[in-house]
Amino acid sequence: MTTHVAFLGLGAIGTPMARHLVAPSFELAVWNRTRARAEAFARDTAARVARTPADAARGAAFVVTCLPTSQDVEALLDRPDGLLAGLARGAMLIDCTSGDPTTSRRIAARLAEHDIAFIDAPVSGGTIGAERGTLTVMCGGDAAAFERARPVIDAFGEKLVHCGPVGSGDALKSVNNALLAVHIWATGEGIAALAKAGVSPAVALDVINASSGRSFASQQLFPERILTRAFPRTFRLALLDKDAGIAAGVAREQRVPSPLLQLTSELFRAAHTMLGEDADHVEAVRVIEQWAGIEIK
Ligand code: NDP
Repeated sequence: MTTHVAFLGLGAIGTPMARHLVAPSFELAVWNRTRARAEAFARDTAARVARTPADAARGAAFVVTCLPTSQDVEALLDRPDGLLAGLARGAMLIDCTSGDPTTSRRIAARLAEHDIAFIDAPVSGGTIGAERGTLTVMCGGDAAAFERARPVIDAFGEKLVHCGPVGSGDALKSVNNALLAVHIWATGEGIAALAKAGVSPAVALDVINASSGRSFASQQLFPERILTRAFPRTFRLALLDKDAGIAAGVAREQRVPSPLLQLTSELFRAAHTMLGEDADHVEAVRVIEQWAGIEIK
């Protein structure tokens, strides 16, 4: 039995995720705003290139979306050639966007009017995890919907977690990424100060990574991407800015005093403004370097 799946959003992470949804278990249709990317994808897979979101959704039991924001997903629902024009009753939308809980709840309610199920299912593990099919997928929605989605999510995920009602996957993902942002920024400030004090960044990281100040940023991002000055573009700073902003909003909404989350959101918004739409998230450290007048290498 093959399952008909549509995948919308063939970006940096969507593309390697979609590559797992192929025959024999799945029959895949893809749609991407820039059609050339969908055509390139179809050249090395058996996927069908859909003309519109509605065309992609037609006949699909599951539609997977992976766009920059929840608002981008919401905008695909009601347009004349949009998802609601193609999705059948009983189908399900699995949104792998790192979205925001409020918009996800609105999307779920709109879809429920048409008897279409929804789960928010943001992922972590980066583009390499997506290539390997080892992503962590944090899901919000009812337990039955999560179980129904499991075979699809399992194709690109390794650790599948039901986090609670709709929006809880988004909330958890945003806090995780806000912590990533905190670690990048704090490590950047600390290493810049040490470098100016005469301690080589490589030596500083060697010690920190054997001590209690270590993090994913200090163990992997700084040695592999900053010390080498490679700064590969795998996850845009614009998207981490968005995630830090969502986490700050979740904390405010829950009335949790959160000066550090609010400051982190402001710092990443400033870095995004300074470095532009294409910069990678790790390049935020370039702002610290500029302020400190030193390069971490
Ligand atoms: P990219 O910027 O690489 O790709 C974005 C994709 O969304 C492209 O296919 C783009 O189409 C499409 N798109 C953008 N705006 C719209 C729109 N308004 N309507 C329709 N399609 C649109 O992003 P990523 O793939 O990196 O990220 C996607 C999501 O996954 C984000 O929410 C991100 O936070 C999250 N994520 C990313 C990770 C990563 O390592 N990259 C890790 C974990 C989560 P087009 O080709 O036309 O530009």
